[in-house]
Amino acid sequence: MAKKLARKTTSHPSTPRARAGGPASKKTAAATKPVARKAAGKGQRQYVYFFGRQTDGGGSMKPLLGGKGANLAEMCRIGLPVPPGFTITTEVCTYYYASKRTYPPTLRSEMESGIAALEQQTGKQFGDLKNPLLVSVRSGARDSMPGMMDTILNLGLNDQTVEALATKTGNPRFAWDCYRRFVQMYGDVVLGVQKRPDEDHDPFEAVIHGLKHERHHQDIEDTRLSVDDLKELVRRFKALVKDRAGKQFPSSPWDQLLGAVGAVFGSWMNDRAMVYRRKYNIPTEWGTAVNVQAMVYGNTGENSGSGVAFTRNPANGVKEFYGEFLLNAQGEDVVAGVRTPEPVAELKKAMPKAYAELERIRQTLEKHFKDVQDFEFTIEDGFVYMLQTRNGKRTAMAALKFSVDMQKEKLIDWKTAVMRNPADQLEQLLAPVFDLAEVAKVKVIATGLPAGPGAASGKIYLNAERAVTAADRGEKVLLVRVETSPEDLRGMIAAEGILTARGGVSSHAALVARQMGKVCVCGAAAVDVDYQARTVTVDGKTYKEGDWMSIDGTIGKVYAGQVKTAPSEIVAGLIDGDEAAKKTEKYRNFHQLMKWCADATRMSVRTNADTPEQAANAVAFGAVGIGLTRTEHMFFEGDRIDAMREMILAETLEERKAALAKLLPYQRDDFAGIFRALKGYPATIRFLDPPLHEFLPHTKEQQEELAGKIRIPAARIHQRVQGLHEFNPMLGFRGCRLGIGYPEISAMQARAVFEAAAIVQKEGIKVRPEIMIPLVAFKKELDLQIEVVHQAAREVQNEQKVKLTYMVGTMIEIPRGALTADEIAQSAEFFSFGTNDLTQTALGMSRDDSGSFLPHYEELEIVKKNPFATIDASGVGQLVAIAVTKGRATRPNLKLGICGEHGGDPSSIHFFEKVGLDYVSCSPYRVPVARLAAAQAALSVKVGD
Ligand code: PEP
Ligand code: MG
Repeated sequence: MAKKLARKTTSHPSTPRARAGGPASKKTAAATKPVARKAAGKGQRQYVYFFGRQTDGGGSMKPLLGGKGANLAEMCRIGLPVPPGFTITTEVCTYYYASKRTYPPTLRSEMESGIAALEQQTGKQFGDLKNPLLVSVRSGARDSMPGMMDTILNLGLNDQTVEALATKTGNPRFAWDCYRRFVQMYGDVVLGVQKRPDEDHDPFEAVIHGLKHERHHQDIEDTRLSVDDLKELVRRFKALVKDRAGKQFPSSPWDQLLGAVGAVFGSWMNDRAMVYRRKYNIPTEWGTAVNVQAMVYGNTGENSGSGVAFTRNPANGVKEFYGEFLLNAQGEDVVAGVRTPEPVAELKKAMPKAYAELERIRQTLEKHFKDVQDFEFTIEDGFVYMLQTRNGKRTAMAALKFSVDMQKEKLIDWKTAVMRNPADQLEQLLAPVFDLAEVAKVKVIATGLPAGPGAASGKIYLNAERAVTAADRGEKVLLVRVETSPEDLRGMIAAEGILTARGGVSSHAALVARQMGKVCVCGAAAVDVDYQARTVTVDGKTYKEGDWMSIDGTIGKVYAGQVKTAPSEIVAGLIDGDEAAKKTEKYRNFHQLMKWCADATRMSVRTNADTPEQAANAVAFGAVGIGLTRTEHMFFEGDRIDAMREMILAETLEERKAALAKLLPYQRDDFAGIFRALKGYPATIRFLDPPLHEFLPHTKEQQEELAGKIRIPAARIHQRVQGLHEFNPMLGFRGCRLGIGYPEISAMQARAVFEAAAIVQKEGIKVRPEIMIPLVAFKKELDLQIEVVHQAAREVQNEQKVKLTYMVGTMIEIPRGALTADEIAQSAEFFSFGTNDLTQTALGMSRDDSGSFLPHYEELEIVKKNPFATIDASGVGQLVAIAVTKGRATRPNLKLGICGEHGGDPSSIHFFEKVGLDYVSCSPYRVPVARLAAAQAALSVKVGD
């Protein structure tokens, strides 16, 4: 009977399927571009947008309708079968927070029109006692925030309408299953009945667990609960709500709807949504939309189901229909990980017609959206309905393969392919994998689904709080859970990897891990987690919190103990020259991407490197020179530190010169090695920068040991350390102030650079030294140092009978230097922005001590991002822009670069493109990230924007 009625419903001209899938929808699609509906009244802002027989919105309206709402509208427009609904715009969310959590006065009547439209299209009535309309209420921000916001299904049910639904469908089990789900979700999301900090389980799940054991003496599947069980669950759930929330469960459908809409808007400001937004830099002002949509039911029986699918494999990028479904289930069962779903390919056997329809939808989606889609569907009595589509989250590896494959398939052009690779995820491709020899030595204890690729080893922790605390202590952590929920987000961020016992590849754990680039294995059923005892038992062996485990998220294996990792194929191919690695698809795709980047980019990418090895690695990654060699790092190796200390402890110029003479050969060899590794690319070499006390021993024992070694009294060392003590060493006797105080240090460094240059040039290798003076605030400071450099150059060229080409420039890392850049450019041949110090000095925030308050500042959104990681474009950025303009006004061909940490940060790189720098410089392993970000910046912004 249910089938018959459902079929009758779906063949009604006003039903979703007939409207969206049939010829009528073509009319809709052809009729219009997205336009504002007049229903809201003349001159009045429209807060509710319909989709269905009438579709007001479209895919381009994400800021207003959110991602979900805009794409539901777009799917209607291209004739896909979407149940009708309406979207309450993000402007209502903004209004809600700006107006003490109240709504625009016209919203209620617009919502009433929306519900009326649904009633008309489905032939059902909201709250009706014969044929009740049920709706889903779902959030939908501009950028999808999986698992972060809340969803309510089956809204409109109460003690009367549930009976009507049971009678109408002839399926009381289905009706009561819907009702029990509704009370559970509504109780959780709207009425706030949730797991307390001292509880390990959701209270509703605990009630279900209790009832199953009481009545069935075991953990039966939800689908085996009887009507009577479900009725009892509804009763117990309501009692739970009354007890915990202190109020009755609302029975009026309109009260339910208004409460649900309020809860969705309210959830925009909940803790986990805020954590998510901070991590992914989603502005609070965007707000969320709310989608109200006619329910379709995946839980009417064995000819129904719900699923989540991707048009291609989001873990490894393979072009295959990928996803999973559950028979006789509603959507949340699939993503919640409570039951482990079947791969979507199994549908081919179970429901061949529905599978063929899904295949057709898969093709249509990719052709239309020209990107891999992640979609949700429900099959109601054999008919497929689309509930959502969005660009699929993907691992860096999948993003790379999608982009290269889709360009080959001519779905996208090469520039789009470049843009499709998130720059801040690219590092994942360089992440290590388990060393094959090492992994062979440990035991595979369990197998699960490969949900987030890569290899991770860590100490196991079973709850998010303890995982975070352990990670704060510096431990490598593996978060192990039965299944994860959004509450676990902090723990997931802190962990190296995530292991769950339940859930499929689209479970919360899998989705979030993929997005974060975390290694993840889920659904490892053999892993028995005991939250109380804080142990994990696998195959009879028990592991305690703090024990090591390792997981391989590429193949889904779990190992006991710690396993060493090995470099990725890209690193093996590029750095170690491994020929087998070079033949892998991953390597070849990476190579193609980097080639496109080279074609697209305007800025070049250099590296911060202090050794020949680092320089060679960076060149292998595509760096075209060194943007910063911190020469002080060279003084810490082997015996050099002793000579350095002798130099600092010297009491006369002669003594100091003698000590410097010992240092010179070391520096010369280092520079020669670097020049050779660079094979003709330029090297920016910065003279000594840190305060001298950093080189001296501070404990009594160390001072005595040094005294013995260099044969001077320990008291003298102690005295010198005292003498060099500064309250604010970062603002003290450092940078060019040292070279001005002790010109012989700069002279030695300049001589070492030029002697090395002469040696390597004579070997037939082009050498391009660029000497850089740090911490310059006054032109005169630079002039004094430049004179020392030129003097050394003259001497070495005469002695060695060579002609050397070199430049002398400065770091711009003090606000005064930036503001007087026109004067400084009279002497400097290049500028390199030292954005670490520039940020420190512009903000008056210590680079070393700001950790005590910056996280709080980020939470309060005083700063949107950590300014030491991402350039403070509107503040510090102004200083950069001023220096660029003033510097180039004096010297139009002034070479401009950046060598602070921001040089490897994608969003900072966009800023540097806009101000027109010539290059960015970053650590060797960030070079590919910076190349990609620079290419994307060149493709998406213009100099001067
Ligand atoms: C800087 O200040 O940005 C810089 C690159 O120099 P350092 O970090 O060595 O001070
Ligand atoms: Mg600096």
